[in-house]
Amino acid sequence: MFEDETMVQFVIKTSKFCNLRCRYCYEYPELGNRQAILPEQLDVMYHHIANYYQNFDQPTYIDFVWHGGEPLLQKPDFYWKTFERQKEIFGELAPYVKNSVQTNLTVLNPERINLLKYGFDSVGVSIDLFGGLRVDQSGTDSVSTVLDNLDKLRDAQIPYGCITVLTQLNLPYLKEIYQFYEQMNVSFRLLPLFKGAFDNQHQGFEITAQEVLKAFCQLVDFWLESEDIVMVKPIVEHMEQILRHYTPHAQPIFYDKREQESVYLVNTNGEVYSYADAYEGLSHGNIFTTSLAELVAGEAHQKVIEQAESRMVATCSQCPYFGSCSGYPVAEGSLEYNEFDETGAIRCIVSQGTLAHIEKRFKQAGIINPETGELTLDPISFSKTPAALDCPV
Ligand code: SF4
Repeated sequence: MFEDETMVQFVIKTSKFCNLRCRYCYEYPELGNRQAILPEQLDVMYHHIANYYQNFDQPTYIDFVWHGGEPLLQKPDFYWKTFERQKEIFGELAPYVKNSVQTNLTVLNPERINLLKYGFDSVGVSIDLFGGLRVDQSGTDSVSTVLDNLDKLRDAQIPYGCITVLTQLNLPYLKEIYQFYEQMNVSFRLLPLFKGAFDNQHQGFEITAQEVLKAFCQLVDFWLESEDIVMVKPIVEHMEQILRHYTPHAQPIFYDKREQESVYLVNTNGEVYSYADAYEGLSHGNIFTTSLAELVAGEAHQKVIEQAESRMVATCSQCPYFGSCSGYPVAEGSLEYNEFDETGAIRCIVSQGTLAHIEKRFKQAGIINPETGELTLDPISFSKTPAALDCPV
């Protein structure tokens, strides 16, 4: 991707149907619902998206992230046909269209391996390694099945990244989790437990913002001590931000949701949400019936933009890292990783705290001269490596 190109992700809830019953799943009440988005609805959505982005001066990469439920429970033909329709509908924009999938990787056969290898552009696998929360309907832990299937992906030479959800139950195994990915030479995102589908769903494995911060700081230290480079998100992104912070005359970056939103979530019924507000009753409208241009300009979308901007003004404008960090974590991040002050403004516990920890460690390691603030390594060569990696969602 070139520097002046941008990317937008559409996280598509293909169907809520799933063979697992992960105890923290925010789709939990709907996991038995087999209803899937219809091919005709996808066609309408593609037309709306293509019409919108073809008017942009700069090319925009459009990444469809197929999500669920378990997206691989759909027959492979569902995806092969929709990939063909994308080519027809997007026309000149088709080379900019990518498809990713986020799977629990419990259902794999030769046809699905073929689909992952030749159909999707990137594969994300959800596996927590410890904690026993990713179970099937009988309560059996899925981890051994997923590990077997990861071997099959490796045998088939299919690259993948992983997402591990951080909970109170796998927090004590952080070092083992890091070492697993280090030995496998696989990138991963450590994703703190997100809001559930109902009250008390997370009882027994909840995690506080302070615990998440501590875990992220430990990951920073594992990364710095490691001989091999493990692409662990969001740590490498935060390291890039600190390097930017100390790079003379670096162009500041600010998240501009009004100019261009970077992630939309499309529910099975076509309702579109910003990532921060998914399912909170703040739908921008329905992309199966309404053009994307109308949704973007619509009252509901303008309201969530104003809310995100207010959060950034209240919190990020006070932050020493604003401009190196774009403010995205406060604008769009999961707000439960933060705390609120007496005025109701967010205290950006996790992102700001992790940045401060990296800054301290970089000074201790001499990567940043603690006296002069000068960088002692070439920020470009450092930043290229992590930026090349991307894990879906
Ligand atoms: S670290 Fe947090 S408060 Fe600072 S700019 Fe980033 S999101 Fe905003």
